[in-house]
Amino acid sequence: MSDLIVINGRAIKPGEQAVINLYIHKLPTHTVIDLPIYIFRSKRPGPVLLLTAGLHGDETNGIEIIRRMIRHKMLHPSAGSVIAIPLVNIYGFLQSTRALPDGKDLNRSFPGSLRGSLAQRVAYTIMNEIIPSIDYGIDFHTGGANRSNYPQIRCVTDIPQNLELGKAFGAPFLMNSKLIDKSFRKAADRMGKYIIVYEGGESMRFDEFAIQEGIRGTQRVMLHFGMKKKADMILGTGQSVLLKESSWLRARQAGLFSPLVPLGSQIDKGEKIGRLTDPYGEHEYVIRAATDGYVIGVNYTPVVNGGDALFHVGLDAVMVRERQLASGRRRKKTGKHVPEENAVFVEADQGSGVEPVVSSIINPQTFR
Ligand SMILES: [Zn+2]
Repeated sequence: MSDLIVINGRAIKPGEQAVINLYIHKLPTHTVIDLPIYIFRSKRPGPVLLLTAGLHGDETNGIEIIRRMIRHKMLHPSAGSVIAIPLVNIYGFLQSTRALPDGKDLNRSFPGSLRGSLAQRVAYTIMNEIIPSIDYGIDFHTGGANRSNYPQIRCVTDIPQNLELGKAFGAPFLMNSKLIDKSFRKAADRMGKYIIVYEGGESMRFDEFAIQEGIRGTQRVMLHFGMKKKADMILGTGQSVLLKESSWLRARQAGLFSPLVPLGSQIDKGEKIGRLTDPYGEHEYVIRAATDGYVIGVNYTPVVNGGDALFHVGLDAVMVRERQLASGRRRKKTGKHVPEENAVFVEADQGSGVEPVVSSIINPQTFR
């Protein structure tokens, strides 16, 4: 990387630290929205690492991860530079929403445009003011409302630089995840920059484990690239389980859902992993794992509709191979492939021994 980092027309030299308030736009009230950007540069040359959070305004864990590292001076490199943007989508943050006020998802608005939607304008500013200066990036996210993700890195593992970055981060899981159109990750990739996504916890809720893992991972990355001489905290092994692919197990029918295995656990095909009931005590079903795998995400919403995603299950290379073999056998037998979500095995729980109760008939007149 060249010695020069220029943001908003201001050059930040090696050895310098700066906070730049990058003008974004105004609110309808004329209130100016600035994007605070923190830059920490060593005199010694090295890579430029970008840390971003809050692209989705309600995903608070990532904001807290970067905030703590700034607060505890953990981003001061001994070589290279760190550019940290703790909160990208200020609009969404103010309203506790994922999107911008125009309803657009910032992470589906890249590379953006100068005269496009508000989301496209924010994306354009980032692509033009920040991305040219960086080599690598970590973009911090969480699951959605009530959907929690076990700490994991998502990147295209076939791209060696991404795999190196993901392995260096050392989250519990490292999942292969293709580049999504109009995402920040894909737009950066097209400019020859390597950005990985960290997922941990859920929106609008601090998850201490996910926050700690995010901080540890960033420290490991800085150590790996020689940007730090020693860690600021105990980092642990940083060994990731490499997941080749993932799929969601969906509810076959509506009801009340209770997961019965902890987030992050390894599950075996056929294992009882959840329960689905009606609200009246008449029916109870068990949900069994359709494949061997790891529970990398859980929907903690108790009330679900048929087709709702319940468990996000990651599969490693061995599991994928075994599943392919199994589905190959099934294909031969039935002549068609059984879709993943229909493979969820839901059955009546034999243990309850409760017969369905006949509803009592109430004469509406009684209550008038
Ligand atoms: Zn997100």
